[in-house]
Amino acid sequence: MATGKIGVSTQNLFPIIKKFLYSDHEIFVREIVSNAVDATQKLKVLASANVFKGDASTLRVRVIADKEAGTLTISDNGIGMTQEEVEKYINQIAFSGAEEFLKEHKEDAATIIGHFGLGFYSSFMVSDKVEIITKSYKEGSQAVKWIGEGDTEYTLENAEKAEHGTDIIMYISEEEKDFLEESKIQGLLTKYCKFLPIEIVFGKKKEWKDGKNVETDVDNVINDTNPLWTRKPADLKDEDYNKFYRELYPSVMADPLFHIHLNVDYPFNLTGILYFPKIENKFEQQKSKIQLYCNQVFVSDSVEGIVPEYLTLLHGVIDSPDIPLNVSRSYLQSDRNVKKISNHITKKVADSLADIFKNDRDDFEKKWDDLKVFLQYGMLTDEKFAERANSIVLLKNTDEKYFTLEEYENLVKVNQTDKENNIVYLYATDMKEQYTYIDAAKNKGYDVLVMDGQLDTHFINYIEQKQSGHKFLRVDSDIIDKLIVKEEVKGTDWNEAEQEEIKDVFNSQLPKEGGMYVVNFEAMGVSADPVVITRSEFMRRMKEMATMNPGMGFYGAMDDQFTLAVNTDHNLVKGILADEQKEMAEKLQPLNTAISENEAKQTEIDALNKDKKEEEIPQVDKDRKQEFSDKIDALKKEKQNLLEEYGKGNKIVGQLIDLALLANGLLKGEALNKFVKRSVDLIK
Ligand code: ADP
Repeated sequence: MATGKIGVSTQNLFPIIKKFLYSDHEIFVREIVSNAVDATQKLKVLASANVFKGDASTLRVRVIADKEAGTLTISDNGIGMTQEEVEKYINQIAFSGAEEFLKEHKEDAATIIGHFGLGFYSSFMVSDKVEIITKSYKEGSQAVKWIGEGDTEYTLENAEKAEHGTDIIMYISEEEKDFLEESKIQGLLTKYCKFLPIEIVFGKKKEWKDGKNVETDVDNVINDTNPLWTRKPADLKDEDYNKFYRELYPSVMADPLFHIHLNVDYPFNLTGILYFPKIENKFEQQKSKIQLYCNQVFVSDSVEGIVPEYLTLLHGVIDSPDIPLNVSRSYLQSDRNVKKISNHITKKVADSLADIFKNDRDDFEKKWDDLKVFLQYGMLTDEKFAERANSIVLLKNTDEKYFTLEEYENLVKVNQTDKENNIVYLYATDMKEQYTYIDAAKNKGYDVLVMDGQLDTHFINYIEQKQSGHKFLRVDSDIIDKLIVKEEVKGTDWNEAEQEEIKDVFNSQLPKEGGMYVVNFEAMGVSADPVVITRSEFMRRMKEMATMNPGMGFYGAMDDQFTLAVNTDHNLVKGILADEQKEMAEKLQPLNTAISENEAKQTEIDALNKDKKEEEIPQVDKDRKQEFSDKIDALKKEKQNLLEEYGKGNKIVGQLIDLALLANGLLKGEALNKFVKRSVDLIK
């Protein structure tokens, strides 16, 4: 028997392994099983090169939990190690600058393990003692047993072992006893080893018999040694991909929209399958992530930094030995290989989408509503992707027809170009709510897009920025004649005094909450609606952006702004004016006269001081002018009060405002109730 010291340049190693790798204790399973798989695969290679002449057809790794003995054993029939090899590979953890590195990375378990190849030593995170019993495949080898107890001492002695291979026997420490529980081990093996290339056996398969679970004679193999991404796409059908998707995400119900099989061997190695999921449930979507593998060993389901951000919404697996797995995220982002991989994935995804679009546009259109968010996200965040996707991103109109950007431009160019030479794209965000506006636009011969997706507001901004001369307007952002202004629009023939008076009448019945309303007068033609409510495109967009962007809180806090456009061509509106004039002329007459008189006096003073500078005007004149101005204000206020008083009693005004609010889904609660009652009264 030999004893010795493990060749580490620092005494600090084990405490660090034990202490700082705390949160990641379970990865010892991955490390030890991976070593075992490596050992069996090496034997396979030696067998095919005819160096190993024995039987390499039944290679497997066994995981055995013995609760009584308190041990977890991982046993392989791979190449094993000679005594020299144990001394070399296990005892000499050869590295330089260790102390420094450990200090720097003590928070980051994965980095330490990866950097030093401490795979085997991760077993000490959960064990008081570890034994290695190993026998080399080389003919006539003597089996040896290595024992370590988590410090830098070890013993090495000859042992008995029939078959070549290695048993790693971990004496699980008291506080880690969990790791002897069957369900826990089964769970970890499923997580990390589900797709390892050599069979991993954990106990026997169980069967339901006579009302209980009983063990059968069949090995419980926990992994699929030949997962789909390692196979040739040509041999696989859609069903196979969907079945594999189920295997990866058992809780996701919907089939994926489609898949992309990645297979690169130059200038880096990468295989995998990406799925475009059908998003039905946000929570499920966030839980189901792309899984990252390294030679079929599960590494992580956090692929940020390796695939572009927008593709993290996809599902599937990526397997690459070329991604430096055990380093920090910031390092990943600057790694050249990783950049190349990321670019490649972007290109591949864009190309596949373009192929589907080209080969089966019908299918692409059918899936578009689900696909849209991925493409838009990609275009908004990745310029390279945007270039590639530009020709396949689609717009949908209210007739459920789909167009590429180019097709749509051609469709509307002639009819929807305004006098400033902007091509105006009209859109609706809610087909039901904006029905009347969509209808008006269509009657005018315009086409209307549906923009109801999560990213549509951003996408609209994006297109406006990228393609100058393109302007998006929601159908309710102005009255129909002013949406796309091609020539000067005829204004109202009402004079200022008439507009002022009727403005007060309407103001008296506008909603006092739920937004700010401004009354405007327009000549919209005899057949258009008497009153139309519109929402400024600019303000609405600012508010929408503010909800997604906390920095714009200023806009978010502002009231919604509406314009109440009163159609002075409409008979009902003409009637309102005529009625108001009839009813109010006498009452307003003295006020109007008084206002005019005071205004005339103001003008007189102004004339007197016409050529004087501000400071030369006598104070008396200034004071008197102020006096008149105050009087005018008071008279106007009085006039306004009279008009509002009158307006409040005008049922037609109330009815027209409510109808316009109703058409916009803005009439609710008590106001709606009143409207219904008033309508019934009007019918009676
Ligand atoms: P790494 O696997 O990163 O090299 P490890 O500490 O996990 O670091 O293992 C060190 C070396 O010990 C391995 O490279 C391998 O040569 C040897 N080894 C570990 N486990 C086994 C095993 N089950 N069978 C044969 N050799 C092994």
